[in-house]
Amino acid sequence: MTEQALIVAAHGSHRNADSAIPTLDHADAIRERGCFDQVRTAFWKEAPSFRSVVRTVDAERAYVVPLFVSEGYFVDQVLPREFGLGVADVTGEPTEPELIYTDPVGTHPEMTDVIAARARRRLDDVPESDAALAVVGHGTERNPNSAEAVYDHVDALEARTDFAEVGALFMDESPYVSAVLDRFAADDVAVVPLFVADGFHTRDEIPELLGIADDPRSGYPVPGERDGRRIWYASAVGTDSLVPEVILERAAEAGADLDRDAGETAVRPDAAEAFRSWIDRSLAEGDTRGQEWGDLLVTGDGDTYELRHRADRDADRGALTERDPDTFGRFVRSDDDGRFRPFGGERSLPTGWVLPDLGPENLLAAIAAVYPGAIETWADDPDPVPFREVAARQTGIYAGVSDLSDGALDDLTTAVCGNCARRRKWTENGDPDSVADRGVDESPASDGTEPPCREPCSFLIAAAREILETDHAGEQR
Ligand code: SF4
Repeated sequence: MTEQALIVAAHGSHRNADSAIPTLDHADAIRERGCFDQVRTAFWKEAPSFRSVVRTVDAERAYVVPLFVSEGYFVDQVLPREFGLGVADVTGEPTEPELIYTDPVGTHPEMTDVIAARARRRLDDVPESDAALAVVGHGTERNPNSAEAVYDHVDALEARTDFAEVGALFMDESPYVSAVLDRFAADDVAVVPLFVADGFHTRDEIPELLGIADDPRSGYPVPGERDGRRIWYASAVGTDSLVPEVILERAAEAGADLDRDAGETAVRPDAAEAFRSWIDRSLAEGDTRGQEWGDLLVTGDGDTYELRHRADRDADRGALTERDPDTFGRFVRSDDDGRFRPFGGERSLPTGWVLPDLGPENLLAAIAAVYPGAIETWADDPDPVPFREVAARQTGIYAGVSDLSDGALDDLTTAVCGNCARRRKWTENGDPDSVADRGVDESPASDGTEPPCREPCSFLIAAAREILETDHAGEQR
């Protein structure tokens, strides 16, 4: 077993393709430092989930760093629950790896410096002492901790920088973003949103509230103009290239050794070995045209491999577009039409590409990019977790999904899981006679040619909530 791993835990999205991008970028930057045996990302709304990512780690300790702007519901409740923090196994021994949970990135004092650096870069040649700096958050109603984090950074910026004025602005409460020119006297105002990723709020809503959304000049490096004054709007601070340093600082404060020289493994080594043996055996004994796994097709001779979409089985290699293994994970986030794929198993994997001449490690890394955590689940074949058990542990806006009837669950699994390349192993409640348990595959994971799914994914839970909301709205009409 290796020494230490890093897990960067973030929200992700089923709708916004960009939500996870800063997390993925920062993890790549940290991998280049080479101080962790594994650098993993995990998401509430994407794969791998907080629950499943631990299975991909082979280390004595894993530092879990929440990439959130503040404490609050996710950092205080959801992540500890989903990671099972503080839970011992049946022998009473602490689970392995030892999970060391840090405070969120957004409240680290170094984030103050990131905000200041982002504003200075955005202001171009306007002297700091002539400009105002606004830090933007949601407001206390949505998350009191996030407003507190904004005010903490404002206080620190006032103490540590030379900006003429520093202040907080909020979308949902006073001082409002729309009152930016009343709030500050300076002619040049830098505006930095304290958000982890860019999305609707930072791309549309805040520029609209600032009154610069329709200003064709408001894009970098030119400011938006309003009433003869200039608003230098930066995108979400969480996308800044300095954020990986703050993530590392959080891990170091919790005890991580940043001076190690470690080799990253994309798949847990014992699972990688077992899976590769199965692939080699299958290729030697089975169909010479390749081994399918989900929507993927692997061919090879045991030394080098080729990966493509199974739909392109009969295509000439020259007719397919050669993809770069380093960017393959980003490529498969969208389908053939450029639409963001809302969950990794959706049967919308793009076609027309090939990854030729892959060594064993690159092959497994590419498969893990398409189906995060699935190779480890295949190797371990853990007990499936029934829908009712997953529903019962939901809180917040998902607390009501336990109310989904078995008939509605049956329809849901048919529609959603029926459009998924993963093989559903979980049942409604463990009762094989249940309506919703029809069609579940109870064979061992290693028997199948589909990546196993051992518990309902976040997309299915979100879809269950939408069904209940629609029913509820219908009853009220
Ligand atoms: Fe696929 Fe259904 Fe599993 Fe989600 S719950 S990963 S849709 S099989």
